[in-house]
Amino acid sequence: MKIEPNSVVAIHYTLKDDAGEVIDTSVGADALVYLAGAGNIIPGLDRALHGLEAGDTKQVVVEPADGYGEYNDELVQKLPREMFGGIDTIEEGMSFQAKTPEGDVQFVEVVKVEDDGVTVDGNHLLAGKVLNFDISVESVREATESEIEHGHVH
Ligand SMILES: [Zn+2]
Repeated sequence: MKIEPNSVVAIHYTLKDDAGEVIDTSVGADALVYLAGAGNIIPGLDRALHGLEAGDTKQVVVEPADGYGEYNDELVQKLPREMFGGIDTIEEGMSFQAKTPEGDVQFVEVVKVEDDGVTVDGNHLLAGKVLNFDISVESVREATESEIEHGHVH
């Protein structure tokens, strides 16, 4: 059967940046299993795989807007050290969970540590990047009613 909304799909993928460097791959590990059309994977990839069936392969280029979003300078902030009270050592590359004013949980990464504050970046690691996927479709099946209701694969 062909992939359509509410198909349960297993794929293997290799993700490369524009320089051809492998960023991530499922090859050699478990296939990625997702519910099509349910927001389980980035929208640009979800859409591009519609109509494929088991055994098909496809190269998919996803622009940032259909991937992890554009890089947003406003998500880079310098915070007072007091906000990191209780943490003995703060180093570049550490990541923390932060609460936004709206109450959402967001991951931020420490990019700079100075005496007068700590600069954090809340952008996704892949924000602003063009994503180049090599996809192979391993299997496609219809979702069960409870999978559709829950919006994920069981
Ligand atoms: Zn469930």
